[in-house]
Amino acid sequence: MDNLVENLGTENVVIIGSGPAGYTAAIYAARANLQPLLITGFTSGGIPGGQLMTTTFVENYPGFPDGVLGPDLMDLMKSQAVRWGTKLIESDVTSIKCIDKPFEITTLEEKIKSNSVIIATGASANRLGIINEELFWSKGISACAICDGATPQFREADLAVIGGGDSACEEAVYLTKYGSKVHLIVRSNKLRASAAMIDRVNANPKIQIHWNTSVTEAIGSEWLENINTIDLNSNQKVIKVKGLFYAIGHTPNTGFLNNQLEIDSRGYIKCVSGRPETSIEGIFAAGDVADSEWRQGVTAAGSGCMAALAAERWLSEKNLAKVIKREQPEPKKSESSTSNLDEDANEETFDFNSEWQKGSYALRKLYHESAKPILVIFSSPSCGPCHVLKPQLKRVISELNGQVQGIEIDIDKDQEIAKQAGINGTPTVQLFKNKILKRQWKGVKQRSEFKEAIKSLI
Ligand code: NAP
Repeated sequence: MDNLVENLGTENVVIIGSGPAGYTAAIYAARANLQPLLITGFTSGGIPGGQLMTTTFVENYPGFPDGVLGPDLMDLMKSQAVRWGTKLIESDVTSIKCIDKPFEITTLEEKIKSNSVIIATGASANRLGIINEELFWSKGISACAICDGATPQFREADLAVIGGGDSACEEAVYLTKYGSKVHLIVRSNKLRASAAMIDRVNANPKIQIHWNTSVTEAIGSEWLENINTIDLNSNQKVIKVKGLFYAIGHTPNTGFLNNQLEIDSRGYIKCVSGRPETSIEGIFAAGDVADSEWRQGVTAAGSGCMAALAAERWLSEKNLAKVIKREQPEPKKSESSTSNLDEDANEETFDFNSEWQKGSYALRKLYHESAKPILVIFSSPSCGPCHVLKPQLKRVISELNGQVQGIEIDIDKDQEIAKQAGINGTPTVQLFKNKILKRQWKGVKQRSEFKEAIKSLI
């Protein structure tokens, strides 16, 4: 803690969290010329971008008549916030001092002072704690079907999803794309998902619902093979599955607050009814961290807007707002990319010197012929964490001035390669030099980790 950088200036508003609530608050605060600072979160409390990063098509967000991929929607919100002047820090907040003003926010790297704070840290996916959960985590058990469903082990296998909400139903339907059968295990006698989602489950012949049933244990050797279940009448049953996916709700991310704000009996931040003000003046809350009831992308965005307007009003009343003067009234248009538009390299398009290419052709060529280290990211089409990681890796590669080359493999398209590489979840990153696997990472990691490992090979 002692070697943290102490920032000398005081921010108008620091927004903690990068889901729909955080980015909407940032868009409003930035357009009020408050130049907000948004701390995205990194490893704690789920991935940057929030829960929409682990969904496929969001079909109820207004403005997208044909639906929009969750990660694409978050990319767009982020671009909009940045375009209007939001400053971003990719880090986790570890604590916040709420007693004195300005507030002091501590991240993994620095201490930041701010006159107001908007907490939009969302909620994290729950785990169940069954017997052998740790043993089979990432070896069959996962909290994100959308991220991991396409992995080779799940192809044509029997799979199971636990839960009865929209997430469980969506994931069960999604997994029928890969598995031969999906067991939906529901602890009660009803689904709490939306009617449209329930219709999809009922219409899908590959899904079997097990009512009033709980999972007690995971069994297998190297990989998950069976789960033990028990129903309300204490009947036990073994179900043969190679994949078990949790979709059992979320817990609000409030640990870093250290009980300084009032929270309700379920752990959600208490606000003035229907408003973003918390129990401490100058601190506002938005999105799922303060909403145990609605928990929708659009309600989170709406509450983010309210929090930013309330913070702006509060800063003005207290004479604390330092507004910036824009050089141009209209900021430059954003170059938002909505993923995966670039094509796989082939015989004609492959470039031996390119820093970043896609597909198995490029991988084979560079693996066999390049003397440089090769960084391979195994991704899948709707994997939100892959969206977070890809720009990070591209940045590392560009900072190393072409001394390393990056390749993206879509494991949905290149199943054989994924199998050969032993991939069991996305994103997985492998670092090769002279055809030898030097390092492997699973999930989202800090840029510095990749950089150090690559530098040691150059
Ligand atoms: P949720 O609505 O809280 O549902 C959690 C489910 O997990 C419930 O069925 C619950 O059972 C079950 N559960 C909880 N603890 C359990 C345990 N220990 N063992 C077994 N089952 C357990 O969570 P969610 O499905 O993640 O949805 C969260 C919010 O996001 C909702 O507002 C939802 O509408 C929204 N969402 C929307 C979409 C979409 O529109 N595309 C997709 C996903 C989520 P009980 O019912 O018995 O409590």
